[in-house]
Amino acid sequence: MGISIWTAQSTTVVNPTETRSELSASSTATLDWDELAQQVSQCRACQLSTSRKQTVFGSGYQQADLMIIGEAPGAEEDRQGQPFVGRAGQLLTNMLLAIGLDRQQVYIANILKCRPPGNRNPQPQEVAECSNYLNRQISLVQPRLILSVGGVSANHLLQTDQPVGQLRGSLHQHPQTNTDLMVTYHPAYLLRRPEEKSKVWQDLQQVASYLKNTN
Ligand code: URA
Repeated sequence: MGISIWTAQSTTVVNPTETRSELSASSTATLDWDELAQQVSQCRACQLSTSRKQTVFGSGYQQADLMIIGEAPGAEEDRQGQPFVGRAGQLLTNMLLAIGLDRQQVYIANILKCRPPGNRNPQPQEVAECSNYLNRQISLVQPRLILSVGGVSANHLLQTDQPVGQLRGSLHQHPQTNTDLMVTYHPAYLLRRPEEKSKVWQDLQQVASYLKNTN
């Protein structure tokens, strides 16, 4: 049996057996867009808050059918406060245009809202602290389809360690929100391995066909 502590300022009853991320899940679950953006901009839950220039919340159409989820902001995103605005972002923009979508028609977000120094891989604790923000964004957008780009995004969203090569080509579901989800390579990977572009093109055709044919 947990002991309840009454905290007068926030008028919440805190059960000490709740983990920090359960607590923050209950505090983000009802936020509207402005409240969520405000909370993200002030977040100090992990060490990335000490090295970021600013948080990168997300951008695009808040009622989009398609939500793109990447890994984490890079240097340019950290500078501009917008997701996917560096070289990989330009390629993502062109990938979307290739299936007739411009960036204003989709919603774009990342697993992490702050840049990891030197673009290192996100650490599990950083991903855990940030995941309630992303889950709330998904619940607010209510996309018909999530396109997860890259292994870090796919592995977190699907709670698996399978490589992108095995996850792409199938329709998955995001467990927390039951949203349909497809996986493809990260545009930064394509900048290094342009010979893989044909696979991404196949994946994008599947995305386009899903959006056209599925209600
Ligand atoms: N890579 C990502 O995964 N996200 C960005 O916003 C930029 C680069």
